[in-house]
Amino acid sequence: AGTDLFPGRRNSRGFDLASAEDLALIESARTPHRTALFDARPILAESLAGGQRTEVTDPATGARVGNVLPASLPDVETALHHAVPWEARPEDRAEVLRRAADLYEASFGPIFALLAREAGKTLPDAVGELREAVDFLRYYASEGEALTAPPLGTVVCISPWNFPLAIFTGQIAAALMAGNAVLAKPAEQTPLIAALAVELLHRAGVPVTALQLLPGEGGTVGAALTRDPRVGGVVFTGSTETARAIRQSMAAHLDPAAPLIAETGGLNAMIVDSTALPEQAVRDILASAFQSAGQRCSALRCLYLQEDVAEGVLEMLFGAMDELQAGEPWDLATDLGPVIDAEAQAGIRDWIAAARAEGRVLKELAVPARGTFVGPTVIRVGSIREMDREIFGPVLHVATFRATEIDRVIAEIDATGYGLTFGLHSRIDDRVQALVGRLRVGNIYVNRNQIGAVVGSQPFGGEGLSGTGPKAGGPAYLARLVKRPAPDCAG
Ligand code: GLU
Repeated sequence: AGTDLFPGRRNSRGFDLASAEDLALIESARTPHRTALFDARPILAESLAGGQRTEVTDPATGARVGNVLPASLPDVETALHHAVPWEARPEDRAEVLRRAADLYEASFGPIFALLAREAGKTLPDAVGELREAVDFLRYYASEGEALTAPPLGTVVCISPWNFPLAIFTGQIAAALMAGNAVLAKPAEQTPLIAALAVELLHRAGVPVTALQLLPGEGGTVGAALTRDPRVGGVVFTGSTETARAIRQSMAAHLDPAAPLIAETGGLNAMIVDSTALPEQAVRDILASAFQSAGQRCSALRCLYLQEDVAEGVLEMLFGAMDELQAGEPWDLATDLGPVIDAEAQAGIRDWIAAARAEGRVLKELAVPARGTFVGPTVIRVGSIREMDREIFGPVLHVATFRATEIDRVIAEIDATGYGLTFGLHSRIDDRVQALVGRLRVGNIYVNRNQIGAVVGSQPFGGEGLSGTGPKAGGPAYLARLVKRPAPDCAG
């Protein structure tokens, strides 16, 4: 019983990993896909013979997961030429997206296998990701049923490797539900799961001309798409730097009315004051900083501990970290998989090495020698200002503050220019209200972890350098993907 906040729509049930029955079901469905080879290629491409197939490998083991045929520039041209906005009635589009949601749920075997093998996702992460993808499909289907405005035309969706199914699907589902033709350019690292998703969407009834996959590099395929005047809008999730390049390209070549929805990086902080419950704070710090090996743009990067509780919290945190198990994502005992590739690993390790040379590494866990692992690490900093970039991995920075210094801390967090997530652990309601009101941050989490926003109930997105809005999984998103009514110029 209870009040139904979303009549007609339910978020996906997902799986209960504490249930032996659910686990057995998952094992039997994903095992046949443990060594199978997957494939991704541009759809409708005419120049298949000309392309250079490349291997996609498992970041934990180096084993081959499949092959990708990246789109050539002629393939991009073919895709643009064949793209046709999806003309079905909104209620029929919604029906197709709901059918796709059902197909996704039924395809958990290959999806969980690919999320582990191609993206290094542990099973809990994979379960959460599938659920989020399904929620996006059903959410935008419901939100868009009453849409009447015309589509933008052809929308380019450029998605990241860290949520290669959920964010990939969310962008596409929204753009399609608004009636657009979609050209989807998945991250270079994760084309195979994208190809599987597109196959399911086509099977559900999305026309091939309304949704085409264009795997390839950002610098070639992404750049060609975002400078083509036939493109009516771009949806992007990735780095702030790439978002800037896309905006420049769009400004130079596209219709000035073409929107860019960008969800970018973060330098996310959490404040734990002396009234916080240490056990709870530690549990939430651990999840926020190290789940998904820290590869979430929402992840906690800089923890501010009030001085009088800092030692106790850190001691408890280090103890909890000792229990973390890094290993192959397929293994159920694994808490932390690898980072996405060798380049990411090298960048994070360089950052840690520099801190180590200065004696600022407080804790570092060992990881398997093989594969692109990075051990969960805690680094001492004076403040968040010492972080000149987002370290996209399992690295937590810790600073301390005195009660009288809270204004300085807020100013420092604000001065990063980012504003994605913020966590606060405090038992003083007035303080919570005051701090929450002062920060320009998209998603604020009080006395809980700061990752894992839920479609429909916690729309996700940032401010400042963290993104343009509107928030994904929220009620304003679809309106940005249709044509705006012509401005009234009279007078
Ligand atoms: N929506 C995700 C979360 O709340 C993060 C998305 C991202 O990392 O890009 O954790």
